[in-house]
Amino acid sequence: MKYDVIIGLEIHAELKTKSKMFCRCNNNAENAKPNEHTCPICMAHPGTLPIPNKKAIEWTILTGLTLNCKVNKLSKFDRKNYFYPDIPKGYQISQYDLPLVHDGHLKINGYDIAITRIHLEEDTGKNTHPSGKSYSLIDFNRAGTPLMELVTEPVIPDAKTAKKFCQTYQQVLRYLNISDADMEKGHMRCEANVSVQEKGKWKYEGNCEIKAIGDYKLNSKVEVKNINSFKALEKSIIYEIKRQSTAIDDREEIIQETRGWDENKQKTVSQRKKESSADYRYFPEPDIPPLNISDDLIKKISINLTEMPWTKKARFIKQFNMSEESAELLVSDKKLANYTEHVISELRAWIDSTDDNWERQKRKLTKAASNWLTGELFKHLKENNQTIKDIKISPENFAELVTLVYQDKINSSAGQEIFKIMYEKGGDPTNIMQDLGLEQMDNNDELEKIIKEIIDKNPKQAEEYKNGKVALIQFFVGQTMAKTRGKANPKKVVEILKNLLK
Ligand SMILES: [Zn+2]
Repeated sequence: MKYDVIIGLEIHAELKTKSKMFCRCNNNAENAKPNEHTCPICMAHPGTLPIPNKKAIEWTILTGLTLNCKVNKLSKFDRKNYFYPDIPKGYQISQYDLPLVHDGHLKINGYDIAITRIHLEEDTGKNTHPSGKSYSLIDFNRAGTPLMELVTEPVIPDAKTAKKFCQTYQQVLRYLNISDADMEKGHMRCEANVSVQEKGKWKYEGNCEIKAIGDYKLNSKVEVKNINSFKALEKSIIYEIKRQSTAIDDREEIIQETRGWDENKQKTVSQRKKESSADYRYFPEPDIPPLNISDDLIKKISINLTEMPWTKKARFIKQFNMSEESAELLVSDKKLANYTEHVISELRAWIDSTDDNWERQKRKLTKAASNWLTGELFKHLKENNQTIKDIKISPENFAELVTLVYQDKINSSAGQEIFKIMYEKGGDPTNIMQDLGLEQMDNNDELEKIIKEIIDKNPKQAEEYKNGKVALIQFFVGQTMAKTRGKANPKKVVEILKNLLK
């Protein structure tokens, strides 16, 4: 690559407050009829006054504190003027020069990604254009929904890191329980600013400002919109890097513009020339006084700070002896992480009742549990298109099943059979094991009797084994497993066979 890639992100997230940003309308319009959740305030009738939603302000500050941001003690709302049918006011109430929080950072793939700001604004309504009709429809239910916008500095070096940033931010919003952050449903919308510059011809100055070195002319950045999945974000950035690099190779000028990702064509298409902030004629919102954020309020909000996925991941690796991959999977959802911790804490109960040497077994057993969680559990969740919310297996029963396999009371294929039943109907694994007769044969005398019979019936193979054809042990193991219908403990079978065939 002879070019450096420079990416900045803008991420909008709808906050799931009870009411809208500046009025008392219900903010949850999931099953509402069009325009059911509207009032004179969010419809911008003359003479109405917006009143900011305190919860939305607190949640934005909470997000900022989580991402190491500074809080603006004096903040304010501004009007961003533009005309579009889905904004009833003819302007959007947003924040311009005094966002609620600023200057944070988040570690992604080893890069410390600088966050410029997080501010609060209101969402727009939704236009639909029925095909073949001569009219458009507007639904204002979404108009006035609190919308939190995070902006990063242009410091992200590749598409993969950009995608990972958005995924981690989604986890943060869900851990804080302030947004559903579902990209497919538009709760979370990511836009990427992408530019490519020749290596060694530019540098960062001051606060991540990109400056040309010598007489080099910086290439313009392009904003990519209409991205409705993490995959599309990654693909659209990769596409842009290629498109821009090829254009520069061909000595074409990159036009500063907004491009949309076309999922069908798998390419970005030009939408419009990018506006500058001057085009929006920002000015302070005269209907809302400036906000004074007190230290007491910040302190009160800080109480709601929770352990974030990256901290939890590090703890799972250290405390539970998990692999990096397992820990990453298990902290991806807060409920799943809680379930995991619950299962692991229950393991101890099952070991304590049978073996007091918990410390000795802890590492192996928690490892086994994390394998069951990332293996069998994930497999069933995926097959049934479910999430951890839907699980019928209690953490106690999950831990019990893991312990049954760990203690060789059942073999792993019997474990999987029991797991399937528990996944579908719930229930106690020991009961299911007994009902189905899956308990592993552990009785040495009984096993020895069966194995002796098998050896007597196969004298030729026994002779060959004794003469050095040791691979034949598998033949006898197979015969024993068939005879016991898979219930024999394979380790014990081998042990007894070796002894009898000496
Ligand atoms: Zn309203």
